[in-house]
Amino acid sequence: MARPEMVLPPVGPDGVDREHADLGDVRVPALLGRYSDDERHARPVGYYHGRRPADGRFGDQPGPCNPTGQWGHNRHLFDALEVSEGDRYDADDQLLGKRFHLVLTCVRCGLVEAMRGQLDPDDAPVPGAREVTHLDPTPLQAGELLAQEIDRRHFWGDQWDVTWTIYRDGLPVGWLATQRGPRGKRYVAGAFGRRYDNSSQVEKGAGALAVLRKLAKQGAPEPVGATPTGP
Ligand SMILES: [Zn+2]
Repeated sequence: MARPEMVLPPVGPDGVDREHADLGDVRVPALLGRYSDDERHARPVGYYHGRRPADGRFGDQPGPCNPTGQWGHNRHLFDALEVSEGDRYDADDQLLGKRFHLVLTCVRCGLVEAMRGQLDPDDAPVPGAREVTHLDPTPLQAGELLAQEIDRRHFWGDQWDVTWTIYRDGLPVGWLATQRGPRGKRYVAGAFGRRYDNSSQVEKGAGALAVLRKLAKQGAPEPVGATPTGP
């Protein structure tokens, strides 16, 4: 069976759906207007619609984005989401630089590069913060459910805190996350619906795939953000 491809966050030409912007997906640039009422959405500035070549050139060795394995031969296939700001003026009515937040996600190898900064009024970029992280591009699969890694943070030693969004038919329907018990024992928890919404049944297990399989047995979930049907 072919490996499922990375599930991309729900974006359209008009930007990331606000309903889905709070999933904690590192592939979606955060809104710039955290301390203001500027709530513009992330929008795709580049989008890859293609498929991997069928001849297997991008196998796992030495790497999907470096077929030769040689330094400098990386060719990533990026999906790019950007948020930029509206016009701002200083006290003297001079145009200030636009702040932007750009996130590049390689749909083949899961590399995520995030850049923040500002463009000066003459459009020369002013250096800003840059972060690089790496996700597993291949989602876990159980029945009709796909669990896409959306965040990965180093915790301790070789331990990572990982978060997944569960998708069905391309729409988010739930979450999985590594957690720790009272004595530090690691496990994975997951449920349908939004995280921290206590209304759905949480499944737990030693690994993400086991929890995803338990959720797949619960039945077909509703998309997160869907209008609830009234009583
Ligand atoms: Zn890549």
